Amino acid sequence: GPDLSTRGPEGDIAVSFEFFPPKTDKMAAALHQTARGLAPLGPRFVSVTYGAGGSTRERTLAATAVLAQEAGAPVAGHLTCVNATRAEVDDVARTYWAQGVRHIVALRGDPPAQNGQTSGARFIPTPGGYENAAALVRGLRQIAPFEISVAAYPETHPEAASAQADLDNLKAKLDAGATRAITQFFFEARTFLRFRDRVAAAGITAEIVPGILPISNIEQAYTFAAQCGAHIPLWMRRLFDGLDAHPETRSLVTTAVAGELCRQLRAEGVTHFHFYTLNKTAPSAALCRLLGRHPCPENAPA
Ligand code: FAD
Repeated sequence: GPDLSTRGPEGDIAVSFEFFPPKTDKMAAALHQTARGLAPLGPRFVSVTYGAGGSTRERTLAATAVLAQEAGAPVAGHLTCVNATRAEVDDVARTYWAQGVRHIVALRGDPPAQNGQTSGARFIPTPGGYENAAALVRGLRQIAPFEISVAAYPETHPEAASAQADLDNLKAKLDAGATRAITQFFFEARTFLRFRDRVAAAGITAEIVPGILPISNIEQAYTFAAQCGAHIPLWMRRLFDGLDAHPETRSLVTTAVAGELCRQLRAEGVTHFHFYTLNKTAPSAALCRLLGRHPCPENAPA
């Protein structure tokens, strides 16, 4: 099989971890524990999402501030264009900069949903707001020399006119000043590898980092996939069939499936993996181990 070892403590595998802002004190405590638990793995960066409709603005800013102390890595703040004027979005960016956040994941965002459901509504720019992620990237360049990451869609964004139009949009975002794209999650290596080929054929040289989602149950996978158009393969549905009442077995299956995906990507030369941690330590930590990324005590926060 392929050699999964890394070349030393730094290795040639880089990882990054995505968190969501906690809603309660209990969830905040859990996030801090997760951040501290993953810190020894020496992530290149950790990031905090910006809730639908900008609803988590305060919580996201609070979480990035805390993670800056605990993650043992640079913190990236996500930022969206939803329900906000340019001035309001720019204000959040300036607050990030004042907090020491030097990296923004710049997104358009989606219309806010009701009762946690996908709204299915199309994005309509706020009057005086940024009209898409590319415009946001251009705006951020005016504010401060942020490092900027953007989103990419191996299975094409559901609103894109065509796969080629979506690729053109990715190129526009990178040309506007983003340095890297992080992908929406996907479940088969070939989905990413075909996309990577199309990206290269389009003349895009920026790093395309696969986003890895270790789903903990198939219902959650359906919910997430319905929101973003990701495809859940039949074999995966079958794997989880009948496991609803068996959480331990389920989590072992989850890690095995995501581990195999990472192994295949690694064998195809992928060296940076972005993990959607869902604020949990063990799945992402296990996947890092399987990729040969080992904890390094000096990365741990004091
Ligand atoms: P854009 O790049 O602006 O693209 C949106 C759509 O419009 C695409 O279909 C694109 O092809 C099309 N388009 C754009 N510009 C043009 C144009 N000029 N002409 C024609 N078509 C155009 N959501 C959150 O709310 N908070 C988060 O923290 C968050 N984090 C994310 C992190 C990652 C890594 C990823 C992959 C997604 C994340 N999302 C987040 C979801 C994201 O907001 C949605 O997928 C949203 O629908 C699209 O955002 P975007 O930045 O890709 O938009």
